[in-house]
Amino acid sequence: MLPAASFPVSGLPLCRCLSYPCPHPYPYPLWIVSASILGQGDVSGSHRPSSALCHPSSAIFTTPLSLRCLITAGPTREFFDPVRFISNPSTGKMGFALAKAAKEAGWSVDLVAGPVSLPEPAGVMVYPVVTAAEMQRQADALFGPCDVLIMTAAVSDWRPKATAPQKMKKDGQGLTIELEPVPDIVTALAEERRTDQFLVGFAAETENVEANALDKLERKGLDLIAANSVAGSEGAFGSDHNKLIVLGRNGFREVLGPASKAVVARQLIDLIARLVAARAS
Ligand code: C5P
Repeated sequence: MLPAASFPVSGLPLCRCLSYPCPHPYPYPLWIVSASILGQGDVSGSHRPSSALCHPSSAIFTTPLSLRCLITAGPTREFFDPVRFISNPSTGKMGFALAKAAKEAGWSVDLVAGPVSLPEPAGVMVYPVVTAAEMQRQADALFGPCDVLIMTAAVSDWRPKATAPQKMKKDGQGLTIELEPVPDIVTALAEERRTDQFLVGFAAETENVEANALDKLERKGLDLIAANSVAGSEGAFGSDHNKLIVLGRNGFREVLGPASKAVVARQLIDLIARLVAARAS
């Protein structure tokens, strides 16, 4: 008999071959997680792989967890005249991979996407936005009914204080633009959250990855934060691969990847499903 929290919470098909390690081709085993992971004690005893569950792609399985998920992805653009803006190199690949994985897990998915050049994942409701203010309005409108929020968006931290109504002319001189901070979208959502909602942030860091991510987890009122390095040519921006250090409350830490963003996304959706299930049990 499996512990209560080990029922199949992933939408990925489950193998019942009863052998561990499972001989079937799948990138990772399903781990049994107990409620202790969410803060009621030590996690060490709960990380035992189930001998009965693994994920070959051939079996048919539908998740018993029907979650509604809100994902933000991509960069935002903050204009200082009609044709010029400040932004960042985010391509939205991680957020789109997560939306696809969540949909494949049987979740209902709203995806608020900054300007990106990616195909819409099938079955996902996509809400295109451009600026941080638009992203905030759209996320606010969709947050109430969602069970899980995943903020992968690389929201601009500053925006020009003023936007010129017409294209600014060059005059051979330098230009100084005054910036103001952009309101933190996820922090504002966390302040109005229900306790049954599960909030996941992302931390793109160039140094002190884990320490900075832990600080953001606390400061922004998140349940989980996925930290990735964006330093140098191996960084996550634009890459098809990623490695996430997932940090939670009470010392929870799990490393996903390095692997393709598609695989890492499936792993993160599976992890979130298990943590949500454990918290509900
Ligand atoms: O930019 P920062 O590293 O602080 O972002 C960490 C998390 O906060 C990410 O999940 C990001 O989507 C979110 N964020 C936000 N609003 C901002 C800036 C970041 O929700 N203005």
